[in-house]
Amino acid sequence: MPAESYDVVVVGGGTAGAFAAATAARDGLDAVILERKSPEEAGHIACGDAIKGKSTFPEVIDLDYLREESFTNENIQRAVFLNPDTDDQLDIPFSQTGAVIDRKRYGEVILEEAERAGADVHYDTVVRDVRQSDGVVHGVTAVRTGTPKKYEAEVVVDAAGSLSLLQDKTDFSASTFDTNVDYSQFCSAYREVLETREPVDYADAIVFKPTEELGYLWYFPRTPRDINVGLGFQMNKPPMKLVDALKTDVATRPEFEGARVKDKLGAALPTRRPYDSAVAPGYVAVGDAAAHVNPCTGGGIPGAAKAGHWAAKAAAEAIAEGAADEEATLWDYNHRVQTDFGKRFAAMDLYNIWGGTYDVDDLVSVITALPGQQLVDAVGRDGTAEMGLGLKLKTVLETFDPRLRNWRTLVELARVNKLAGRLKAAYDEYPTTPAGFDDWRTRRDAVMDDFYDLTGADPKY
Ligand SMILES: Cc1cc2nc3c(=O)[nH]c(=O)nc-3n(C[C@H](O)[C@H](O)[C@H](O)COP(=O)(O)OP(=O)(O)OC[C@H]3O[C@@H](n4cnc5c(N)ncnc54)[C@H](O)[C@@H]3O)c2cc1C
Repeated sequence: MPAESYDVVVVGGGTAGAFAAATAARDGLDAVILERKSPEEAGHIACGDAIKGKSTFPEVIDLDYLREESFTNENIQRAVFLNPDTDDQLDIPFSQTGAVIDRKRYGEVILEEAERAGADVHYDTVVRDVRQSDGVVHGVTAVRTGTPKKYEAEVVVDAAGSLSLLQDKTDFSASTFDTNVDYSQFCSAYREVLETREPVDYADAIVFKPTEELGYLWYFPRTPRDINVGLGFQMNKPPMKLVDALKTDVATRPEFEGARVKDKLGAALPTRRPYDSAVAPGYVAVGDAAAHVNPCTGGGIPGAAKAGHWAAKAAAEAIAEGAADEEATLWDYNHRVQTDFGKRFAAMDLYNIWGGTYDVDDLVSVITALPGQQLVDAVGRDGTAEMGLGLKLKTVLETFDPRLRNWRTLVELARVNKLAGRLKAAYDEYPTTPAGFDDWRTRRDAVMDDFYDLTGADPKY
């Protein structure tokens, strides 16, 4: 069986894969996306479809076209946190307007744009294995429309999403690639798109309601009548019956009476820190395949787009140097990720672990008392954000005072916040070459040890 040969083989045609392939093609490389779905199904991905105002996408595709075609609601002005026990709600205005997208159309456009940039897209192509010799990955094997195929590559980009099959098939023992990955660090999620009879009165908001197991139900309006409704739970907790829980909640909300289910889909997403290293000789993982997801909000689209772009840039340089088979030549990608959103996501992970140390009743009361992950998100961004923690807590107290029972929790949260700041500082010192990797891990792990001592949480990694 003759192999098809490319500079870069990208496995997976989601956000990370499409941006990686578009970047590689624009840099003059021969790139192909291998996507297991058919052209009709590609882009159909379980997602809440919300994008924060500040999110930026690499300009390797026509972003105006993407926006025109798929940004169906560009008027998200606020987040609403519902108290599950009372009628209270807390509105948090956004400083920048966010969007909710038509995820299927978005997925189609990014693939179309990757092709327009010069990449090939092979649909109906299921990657089954990795080709590797002497520790170096040099291609994959796949089945394309029923026929076995071999692909050769200077660099394989693993953009195959959560719990990527490729990582089960690759021997990472001679590399720095993070293999400290367990299903309990993932979230299982389910969502439906419901078409309501009348427009909802929160078309300018993304709405969250805390559930058991440190999860949220969400209602994200794609349009005033198309509502993306979903929920998830962290897989270190007992499984939730997601479909039943969603149905039960929807039945209590008058706006969904007589609503039509337009789409339903479930998936796992990583709710953990990004992989410490996502490179190996000839191999780089991006997006969900390297846990590039905000572990508090589940937002992974912007991280996937950036990671895909940076990985392809690193691959282009490594190929130009004739040294793509050396892990060190791809290292710059790790450094960019970890000193950018990587440090923020790693810090936010502390809040997730901290939340897991409370039993469900306490947790619901704490989550309800605080403006949920929105507070965590803002606090976690740089430890101070636009409004200091003290002021945030004051706002919270003023809003939810009667329900706020646990002062110790708040004191502990302030300490977690400090440790989050220390953790981010450690990530700022992520090494610029693999040589400093072990030392860096030791320093980072010392912060994690202090965090586990403070919270009594079981180590997640
Ligand atoms: C329920 C849910 C809600 C979410 N809500 C939001 C949200 O509101 N906002 C946000 O920003 N993010 C959200 N996310 C996260 C976001 O969807 C992901 O982080 C993002 O899609 C990751 O993109 P990716 O390209 O890495 O992976 P994916 O989009 O999963 O793409 C992976 C691709 O690889 C293909 N593939 C897999 N295995 C193979 C194989 N062996 N051979 C060939 N092809 C293969 C798949 O078919 C798929 O097309 C949500 C996720 C879930 C599950």
